[in-house]
Amino acid sequence: MTVHSEIEIAGLTAPINTQLFINGEFVDAAAGGTIEVLNPFNGKKICDIAEAREEDVDRAVEAAKAAQPAWARMDAADRGQLLLKLADAIEANAEELIKLEALDTGHPVRDARKLDVPRTARCFRYFGGMADKVEGSLPPVYPGFINYVQREALGVVGQIVPWNFPLMFTSWKMAPALAAGNAIVIKPAEITPLSTLRIAALMKEVGIPDGVVNVVPGYGHTAGARLSSHPDIKKIAFTGSTATGRRIVEASAGNLKKVQLELGGKGPNIVFDDAILPAAIGGSAWAIFHNQGQACIAGSRLIVHEKVADEFTEKFAALAKSIRLGNPMDSNTEMGPLTSKMHQEKVLEYAKIAEQEGGEIICGGKAPDDPELANGCFVEPTIVRADMSSRVCQEEVFGPFVTISTFSDDEEALQMANGVIYGLGSGLWTQNLSRAHRFAREIKAGMVWINSYKVVHPASPFGGVGESGYGREMGFEVMNEYTQAKSVWVNVDAQIPPHYER
Ligand code: NAD
Repeated sequence: MTVHSEIEIAGLTAPINTQLFINGEFVDAAAGGTIEVLNPFNGKKICDIAEAREEDVDRAVEAAKAAQPAWARMDAADRGQLLLKLADAIEANAEELIKLEALDTGHPVRDARKLDVPRTARCFRYFGGMADKVEGSLPPVYPGFINYVQREALGVVGQIVPWNFPLMFTSWKMAPALAAGNAIVIKPAEITPLSTLRIAALMKEVGIPDGVVNVVPGYGHTAGARLSSHPDIKKIAFTGSTATGRRIVEASAGNLKKVQLELGGKGPNIVFDDAILPAAIGGSAWAIFHNQGQACIAGSRLIVHEKVADEFTEKFAALAKSIRLGNPMDSNTEMGPLTSKMHQEKVLEYAKIAEQEGGEIICGGKAPDDPELANGCFVEPTIVRADMSSRVCQEEVFGPFVTISTFSDDEEALQMANGVIYGLGSGLWTQNLSRAHRFAREIKAGMVWINSYKVVHPASPFGGVGESGYGREMGFEVMNEYTQAKSVWVNVDAQIPPHYER
């Protein structure tokens, strides 16, 4: 079956492209497969999109391979200029992107308006500015030699992203790769492809050359697996679950492609007895409940000093219960549905697991009773008192689901914080400066937020340790991930090098 190249969606001003984006054109999938895209608020179908399979990925890689050399040779300032234009186009189309993301993912429009869309534009703008600032180096070597190191693009890069922040991740993944001179084949998650397809259309509009970016929405076991194993792809940048990350590493072995992994997390969020409690309570709610808790960096394990635990828990639960659940398209809604039915069921299952393991559900743990929300994938903000060894404290739930455990001294808090396989985001709330820095040093994590949580910026490195993955997004760090060093040796006097003299 073929899908319409463009469809009108009620409430949106521009038509949505539903085909694959290959070599600068929206095209049908070779095998004609389609994927139903559902609205998580009411379970209704939004549209069908074309489903990329192996041969479509191959076509996309061919297009990227053909386009990449000219893209890499282009004046870096001109490459950057195109990303800056894209950032402008995103802002000019902001309202439509906000609604599209809300429709497809369930993100409340108030979040998409304040965060997803401005952050996406900011990220493309940051790396637009970065394109002509990637410098090599001149290491001091032997007398008589000059050694210069230049950073070169990798070639064709495959990018695989999840469904929790599809729009924002287009910028996190694509912006630095493009700034560095790579061409891209990106696979959005099968359930949330719409904003990535829209960004592809905007890329075409602003003049990013055909073939430099290709979008192949499809399933992980077909399109994703083909990208990961493709012999002409030089690197896979992946965000998603730890289990899939492992599969990608295995699949990448064929041509030894570079792999960058942003995986799961189980963020510890420590509240000390000297914390400014209103800030800790508000910040901890943001840490776990923003985006319905569907964030790899979510502060999903609260570790609270026993002296303040009762007061903290009571006020934190009152705040959680006051969060307004509703239609994500309504500007008053603070929490929308989870992004899929399957995921809603998984999160609700963890409430049962918590009870079976002797945990106490302080609030939530169920879908809301409101009949108007009955068809949506909602889960009430959930707080569970649980032991640190329990499954709900060890496994990533990825929903509006937070555990609270208590500690009595710093050493115990640190052990609890580090007692999981993950190491991505982490937070701590204290007024004691030396304790804050000591914990920042000792916590096993890629990011530590002190008296804050989940602050991100395109200039600051983002990534994990342990089973949260490796490699870093953002800042100058990520430019090393998307380039490789070439070392050039010049014998200045053009004489025979000393070690060859006989
Ligand atoms: P997932 O791993 O199931 O899917 C992520 C992407 O991988 C999707 O596009 C999917 O189609 C694809 N995929 C699935 N199987 C594949 C395979 N065999 N080969 C290649 N690609 C395949 O994860 P998800 O459920 O979509 O996303 C949620 C997970 O992502 C959570 O565990 C979360 O912590 C993690 N995540 C991590 C970060 C981070 O930056 N560290 C950010 C967001 C989400």
